[in-house]
Amino acid sequence: MDVSDLIDPLNAAQREAVTAPLGRALVLAGAGSGKTRVLTHRAAWLVRVEGATPFNLLAVTFTNKAAAEMRGRIEHLLDLSSSGMWVGTFHGLSHRLLRMHWQEAGLPQSFQILDSEDQRRLVKRVMRDLKVDENRWPVRQLQGFINARKDAGERPDDLDISDPYMGPMAQVYKAYESACQIAGVVDFAELMLRTVETLQNHLELLSHYRRRFRHVLVDEFQDTNGIQYQWLKLLAGPEADVFIVGDDDQSIYGWRGARVENLQRFREDYANTQVLRLEQNYRSTSNILEAANALISRNSDRLGKKLWTDGAEGEPIAVYAAFNEQDEARFVIERLLRMTEDQGLARSDFAILYRSNAQSRTFEEALLARRIPYRVYGGLRFFERAEIKDALAYLRLISNRDDSAALERIINTPTRGIGTRTIEALRLTARNEEISLWAAAQRLVQQAGVLPARAANALRGFIDLIEQLAAEIEAAPLPDQLEVMLQKSGLRGHVAKDQSERAQDRLENLDELITAARSFEQDATIEEGMDVVTAFLSHAALEAGEGQAGEWEDCVQLMTLHSAKGLEFPIVFIVGLEEGLFPHRMSTEEPGRLEEERRLAYVGITRARQQLILTHAERRRLHGRDDLGIPSRFIRELPPELIEEVRARFSVSNGASAMANSWASEANEFSLGERVQHSRFGEGIVLDCEGSGPSARIQVNFDDAGAKWLVAAYAKLERI
Ligand code: ATP
Ligand code: MG
Repeated sequence: MDVSDLIDPLNAAQREAVTAPLGRALVLAGAGSGKTRVLTHRAAWLVRVEGATPFNLLAVTFTNKAAAEMRGRIEHLLDLSSSGMWVGTFHGLSHRLLRMHWQEAGLPQSFQILDSEDQRRLVKRVMRDLKVDENRWPVRQLQGFINARKDAGERPDDLDISDPYMGPMAQVYKAYESACQIAGVVDFAELMLRTVETLQNHLELLSHYRRRFRHVLVDEFQDTNGIQYQWLKLLAGPEADVFIVGDDDQSIYGWRGARVENLQRFREDYANTQVLRLEQNYRSTSNILEAANALISRNSDRLGKKLWTDGAEGEPIAVYAAFNEQDEARFVIERLLRMTEDQGLARSDFAILYRSNAQSRTFEEALLARRIPYRVYGGLRFFERAEIKDALAYLRLISNRDDSAALERIINTPTRGIGTRTIEALRLTARNEEISLWAAAQRLVQQAGVLPARAANALRGFIDLIEQLAAEIEAAPLPDQLEVMLQKSGLRGHVAKDQSERAQDRLENLDELITAARSFEQDATIEEGMDVVTAFLSHAALEAGEGQAGEWEDCVQLMTLHSAKGLEFPIVFIVGLEEGLFPHRMSTEEPGRLEEERRLAYVGITRARQQLILTHAERRRLHGRDDLGIPSRFIRELPPELIEEVRARFSVSNGASAMANSWASEANEFSLGERVQHSRFGEGIVLDCEGSGPSARIQVNFDDAGAKWLVAAYAKLERI
């Protein structure tokens, strides 16, 4: 490939950024202006022109999907198939570093990653041990506290134990930390903090990496938090060439400690930063872009950017007021089907974006009912489902007996007569002796008389089972290991016995896990020195929440607005635009939070390339509550001339309430303005509908006979 291939597909401002002299560059630009494109071209430019090797690059972004795309693009531009390049997420790269330097990091070689559910359990256990009142200190709050402290780079010793409010929380943090250390597990926040500390405490390591990573590139910089900034500053030493791109208008993780001020701070910390701006948007039609610009202009304290496009005006932005969430899903899916037919679009050209994960269910059900393949990012959490986590807990325990979180999860799953008393005894011993639960179990079965004979036998049975499994599967390929483990542990049988209708689903999930293991073993690049089980388990922990491993079928894409960052789709639906839902009710009292919600809306709108469709529901049942929905202020904040309201469809049905039954009543629904035919009065236009069920009436303006009210059930109207 020629160098001109790196330069030709860029405009002048983009070129200037890609070819900027080595040093520090900050590309500050709005959505869809080519920041990610510029970043990947810059990486390739460094190798082709500046004499770097892929080995010298460190490129960081926020989601696995974005990282995979970035790696793919750079490799494509460099014509490499697979390389030793460090391209990944902050968490993924930290994990890689800790795996390679587990000794310096003070971790066991086979340390495992604790996901947030496991973390919550562990926090809860620690709180119980310390007799901290859960009513006063909810577990989630403490979990959030611990993570926030870690994100700020603070250890328990940095906190004021004597403070009446902070004190008890700091104690839980401290006890939690030692429980993690004994178990050999690290949570997500720990991955970052531990990496920073390891580099700080081992200067030879630090200088090794600084020599290696001569070029550091960061996408979505506006969302870095304190510890991530520190991490970057450590790795990108004073000598490094640093290239960061970001958009202050897309900073959406303030609630998790992200600091948009890091953009300013970077300019102060790294003298002589060249600031570059891109102003042409290549993604969206001008209607979409204008709507986005108008919305975001209502925020204060912006760094200020202009965005323009020379693209087509495109369709107006459609807004649909649904009766309720079912009607909303029906509308979205009908639109989607119609557009796939009329415009020859693929299913994957459509994205349905929502504010909270819980909103996906109605859409999933509606898609399932129509047999339309779909994929949920950030919600389905394949690796977080109970049966999958049980299976993985067996693998974790087999590879690291001290992983107490894993042991607790499966010691009595399937039931094997190990009751809460026995488990309490294990915990007590573990706590007193400062050992893992596994070590405590071994001790208790050896000491006669501590446990009742039945309990001791059951516990011995469990220990033997794990030892046997370990010996048996040690040398087998990963999918076979899973197969044997599922069988012999009794887990598959246990899931099959599940009385609920979910049994079949759950069995299929277990099969899917084996499939995922197989493709992992075939395709994944596994770090040197890491065994495949550990690599797979880490993959499961880090990938969780970003959708299912496996096939990339042509699917409709469902995800939260947060997970859509950086992506683009031809057609975007943003659903649930109601006050309290989006903007989220927690944000409406605080101006700062409201502006963050508006930035999230800006992110959502700017994902769309050709068409944007917004929906809100007049009634919504969510979290078991019925709410009356007021249309979101974000709809009102769009210029009215860019909007086209989709006229509501009134349902007139022969059967029960049309609203409750909107699928079945399909054939009887007429839209206002639709042309219909009547056997006696001829052709006309639907003017109005009222009522439902057998008494529903419909008003039609017939071309010849004039306006008439008819009883829908008898009128036998046909669409034309
Ligand atoms: P976001 O802020 O949403 O992350 P971005 O600034 O990273 O957006 P990109 O994703 O890099 O923008 O680019 C947006 C779209 O415009 C992509 O489809 C990209 O391929 C296209 N694009 C960028 N620059 C050009 C260009 N010079 N010519 C043609 N297409 C371009
Ligand atoms: Mg981008």
